[in-house]
Amino acid sequence: MRIARAGALAALVLSGVLAAFATIAPVSDAEIARPVRAEPMVLQPLDGVMPDPASYIREERFQRGDTLAGLLARLGLSESEAQSLQRLAQLRQLRTGSAITATIGADGGLQSIDFLGPRDTLVLIVRSGSGFSVSEQRAEFETRVAMSSGIIRSSLFAAADAAGIPDAIAVQVAEIFGGDIDFHRDLRRNDRFAVVYEMHAHNGLSVRSGRVLAAEFVNQGRAYRAVWYGGVDGRSGGYYAPDGKNLRKAFLRSPLEFSRVSSAFGMRRHPIMQNWRAHRGVDYAAPSGTRVRAVGDATIEFAGRQGGYGNVVVLRHQGQYTTVYAHLSGFGRGVRKGARVAQGDIIGFVGQTGWATGPHLHYEFKVAGEARNPLAIALPAALPVPAGEMARFAGQAQPLAARLNLLASGQVALLE
Ligand SMILES: [Zn+2]
Repeated sequence: MRIARAGALAALVLSGVLAAFATIAPVSDAEIARPVRAEPMVLQPLDGVMPDPASYIREERFQRGDTLAGLLARLGLSESEAQSLQRLAQLRQLRTGSAITATIGADGGLQSIDFLGPRDTLVLIVRSGSGFSVSEQRAEFETRVAMSSGIIRSSLFAAADAAGIPDAIAVQVAEIFGGDIDFHRDLRRNDRFAVVYEMHAHNGLSVRSGRVLAAEFVNQGRAYRAVWYGGVDGRSGGYYAPDGKNLRKAFLRSPLEFSRVSSAFGMRRHPIMQNWRAHRGVDYAAPSGTRVRAVGDATIEFAGRQGGYGNVVVLRHQGQYTTVYAHLSGFGRGVRKGARVAQGDIIGFVGQTGWATGPHLHYEFKVAGEARNPLAIALPAALPVPAGEMARFAGQAQPLAARLNLLASGQVALLE
């Protein structure tokens, strides 16, 4: 009995592993057109710095809790060099995770320092006489393709950490499959995923993640696959199944934004388990302030206070569909009766207004005014790849699907 009870408890905890969702940042056409490199990175000499055969380069990252003095010491700079550098305002632009590169001359003296500043600028500090001169230029990035896979033991983020996958990529994976899988409620132990994605690198150091190119998620034994397909004729790109079906659905499975914080919350407190028929909705436990998204394009039918619901938003979607979001701590910007919202727009924040014993979102999905189980309903999909583009689509999708096959068979887990 002891073992059985422990197992049941584990299943309950795991079923509530993830609490939320996030949107993918829109990508410009320039980024879509950017070629993908899959070769090892080559260190390029910096513009404005003459390569010195006897010089060497040191790299460090500004870490959480780091001090500028500590960072400069790790780069091997002398105390007097560090002191004059610390007087430069530009060095205060260093943020946690920033990579800084120092070029040290044959005499052991600092020749130059560079790092990425705000808005993708490259800040270059070069020795000139007894001091330093500062210049800024636009940083150039190279894009490489990374592949990795993981198995869910406790949460998607824990699995991503174990596989060395950045948070932004884990969030994109959850977003891509957000029309099929509710990452708050549907995940189970031993669910698997594989992902092929871009990393943008500067001087050979990965500085930020790019777009997911292909992904597979096996949820409760059922495999979902997605490949990125850039649209033609001015249509924007999107994610499609290998057969050309659109992964985007008219409704998101989860109204909660997906994030590390809210998924960790989901681990500690499983969602309030209730029969949706008696309850007419689904409750999501999540920290106060977690962002709540419109699950589909809609017109706002009601936004305000209403008895036991507390602060509540009611959305009217195309067809016979309405959705209800209750107990909110507050409303999204511009959320008022009659306004239009698009799928994924933030309409409010999790709270415990009205009849609620703790912070959670009460969510209802109605068809022609009748409450339906949102976890069970079949959702209509957006348009597939047009028939006339299937050959072009297949040409892009097949090499990506081949990579997923390799990952799924456990043959590779590497940065190309
Ligand atoms: Zn409820």
